[in-house]
Amino acid sequence: MLKEISITTHRRTEFIEITNLIQKIVRETKVDNGICYIYVPHTTAGITINENADRSVIEDIQMELNKIVPFDDDYSHSEGNSSAHIKSSLIGNSVCVFIENNSLKFGTWQGIFLCEFDGPRNRKVWVKIIKE
Ligand code: ZN
Repeated sequence: MLKEISITTHRRTEFIEITNLIQKIVRETKVDNGICYIYVPHTTAGITINENADRSVIEDIQMELNKIVPFDDDYSHSEGNSSAHIKSSLIGNSVCVFIENNSLKFGTWQGIFLCEFDGPRNRKVWVKIIKE
């Protein structure tokens, strides 16, 4: 089964934690053990797993990505959002998390973040749960 969730972003660059939304989907499927595949079907957004305890970690990631890939440069792409496309490729658009006892299995402080690089926009996240 493929589940879709919709997320509205509010800033040009923004990391939105979606761990609880994905956890809710897992619980509803009643799958005890398996794999949860989470995919972002966009070319200017991404998805990552990182620390959700200290918000400054996510802010530092965004700050450094903006240094590595500046918003304005001598880009060819006429739409004007090349930095967002590049950041999307650097971060990637899928993550995979194990399901144990009907719950996502994380390491300490880990959470799932939708990464907006060309907001504000309406984004989709696709979730596929594979039963063991
Ligand atoms: Zn573009």
